[in-house]
Amino acid sequence: MNDISEEALRIIEETFGARFMRHASGEAEPDAEVPFASVFPENVEEVRLLTRLGAQYRIPLMARGAGTALYPGRAVRTLLVRFDAMRGIRLPEVGEEWVEAEPGVNWLTLENHLRSRGLGPTVYPTSAPRSTVGGWLAENGLGVGSYEYGWLLQNVLSVEAVLAGGERDLIEGEDLRYFVGSRGGMGFLVSARLAIRRADEDVPVGAAFRSAENLAGAVLDLYRGGVPLWHLGFLNASMARARSLEGEHILFGAYPESRSAGVEPSLRSAIDSHQGRLLSPPEAQRIWEQRFFPVDSLGPTPRPGRALVQGARLVPTLVEIEQKLAGVAIQGTVARMGEVSLLAFDPAKESPGLMDLSATTDIELLQVAGRSWGPWRW
Ligand SMILES: Cc1cc2nc3c(=O)[nH]c(=O)nc-3n(C[C@H](O)[C@H](O)[C@H](O)COP(=O)(O)OP(=O)(O)OC[C@H]3O[C@@H](n4cnc5c(N)ncnc54)[C@H](O)[C@@H]3O)c2cc1C
Repeated sequence: MNDISEEALRIIEETFGARFMRHASGEAEPDAEVPFASVFPENVEEVRLLTRLGAQYRIPLMARGAGTALYPGRAVRTLLVRFDAMRGIRLPEVGEEWVEAEPGVNWLTLENHLRSRGLGPTVYPTSAPRSTVGGWLAENGLGVGSYEYGWLLQNVLSVEAVLAGGERDLIEGEDLRYFVGSRGGMGFLVSARLAIRRADEDVPVGAAFRSAENLAGAVLDLYRGGVPLWHLGFLNASMARARSLEGEHILFGAYPESRSAGVEPSLRSAIDSHQGRLLSPPEAQRIWEQRFFPVDSLGPTPRPGRALVQGARLVPTLVEIEQKLAGVAIQGTVARMGEVSLLAFDPAKESPGLMDLSATTDIELLQVAGRSWGPWRW
């Protein structure tokens, strides 16, 4: 740590007390890819102080949420700014269509708070029990609800950020696309105003299919038919087995009950056309409750491989994955413009849990999915 100004460290230590932690391993191995310390600010002023000190004493700072990013950045001799202590939520007043949250709030907590008012975020990641508002905003992505609402970026009304040097900035409108998804490179996010929806009449649905081809065909029919679901996702048979479901390929989703006339006939027709089986409401509910799996608020989090697939290529892509990556567990999320996000895990041998996708499998997944990349045409 000797290249970091002792004076700066003393100021940080005095200000943050026990909320500043030096990491011994960085000292033992000065070149190791580890942060030399972590600091836990409690409010915007403390974040500003850190960025000012960072600029003045040339201390590399790096934000950290829950650490579930699929491609985590290298934290080489950085001071990690951790947002665990900034977890404020301002629930909407009557008539407001947004919620305000601080960066350390995890998505499931946000969902639970909103649910108590019959509301919910328009989108949230499947890592919601762990991942934070700040972390997902810095990454951008597709998740639960993206079938209706698209990418996270399209669901952010404004973001408050602290820029390098300590300046505070409110980012809105077109400028959001430079900040959301910038992986912390544009500054630290200290608060966000996010779109919400009514969630108190959501109905989960599910169907089981004997082959990946049938599953993908039904997904495609629903998307092409513009069936007004809120969420549309799926699990291949390996993922279903890993969740202690029967070893069939599963389509699942949710929609507001008021849309049932627009959803149910099309859903039945898509299922029948692809030799599927409609799941009973309790079965659909059980699958819906596991939509976050394999992320839990406790225990280790596996890091999945990810690929984006063009919807029109979903059938051949899923079929090829079943042939070439036999046994790999896949969870799919369908998005508004026809993109399909695939998260993949290697089910752990002789264990009910899942482990990280191996690097080889990740590359193969990307190769298979990469061939289906292109302009969105379904
Ligand atoms: C099992 C599993 C399921 C997943 N499902 C999804 C999914 O459905 N959709 C999806 O898109 N992704 C998914 N992911 C990826 C990952 O969960 C998301 O990218 C997640 O939102 C990252 O949040 P985090 O709190 O873990 O952030 P971290 O991993 O801690 O950080 C991610 C990035 O954000 C930056 N950052 C963190 N906080 C701030 C801040 N306050 N200001 C500025 N920058 C900040 C960090 O420096 C880093 O660059 C999944 C990952 C796992 C392991």
